[in-house]
Amino acid sequence: TGQLYIVATPIGNLNDISQRALDILQQVDWIAAEDTRHSARLLQHFGISTRMLALHDHNEKQRAASLIETLQQGQSIALISDAGTPLISDPGYSLVRHCQQAGVQVVPIPGPCALISALCAAGLPTDQFLFIGFLAAKQQQRINQLNRIPAGVGTVVCYETARRVQATLHDLVEVFGAERELVLAKELTKTFEHFARGTASEILHWLQEDPKRCQGEMVLMIAPAAKPDSDNDIAPAVLHTLQLLMQELP
Ligand code: SAM
Repeated sequence: TGQLYIVATPIGNLNDISQRALDILQQVDWIAAEDTRHSARLLQHFGISTRMLALHDHNEKQRAASLIETLQQGQSIALISDAGTPLISDPGYSLVRHCQQAGVQVVPIPGPCALISALCAAGLPTDQFLFIGFLAAKQQQRINQLNRIPAGVGTVVCYETARRVQATLHDLVEVFGAERELVLAKELTKTFEHFARGTASEILHWLQEDPKRCQGEMVLMIAPAAKPDSDNDIAPAVLHTLQLLMQELP
């Protein structure tokens, strides 16, 4: 049988593609891409003319069966997403799962990933972290998600969108308090790469100083609770309720 390669591609800076990624993309029979038009530009830049097929969130489950057939016929496929590492808040899980069940070998070709790039330069603890992908679009769901994060998980990392980041920063104050240290990593590997550090209101202030700062791609990181006292043992939701109760008490 053929092999399925999970190939990481750049998240901004094209020089971040690995030699191994280029070799594999050139050698395989097919490249399965999230958006074939978007990826065609990347492949063209590197002079790669491998045939492409589309694999995105909406067709992945149906497509998986036919791709596995292709693999079982001995053809190899490289999976790429629009940017970064496939399956990390990107399509591919269903295909990889089916491959593993069908006995098709899946080979990772590591490379750029916004999560890891943000975390390794943020200056926040990296020994333990929790990646929660994208937060929900609806505010109440977002607050519930944040409240469910247990204490002691280390740094919390989420993918954010320019449109929602300000709303999320407000929610973070509600759930974790106004003093929690945050880092917003913007435009990683690109010209205007920037790490904004501080409390939610400091980062909001920085964003609002210049409308351009509210654009672009971003990763939001939440530092673990500062004081290593008993507060750490109380779940954020419980702590929040206690804080509300304390305000009401005489
Ligand atoms: N699979 C990708 C990876 O490995 O990072 C992530 C794909 S996800 C659909 C896109 C999100 O990743 C963006 O909304 C942003 O949060 C983050 N992201 C991607 N590229 C980025 C960059 N250059 N700088 C900051 N964040 C980035």
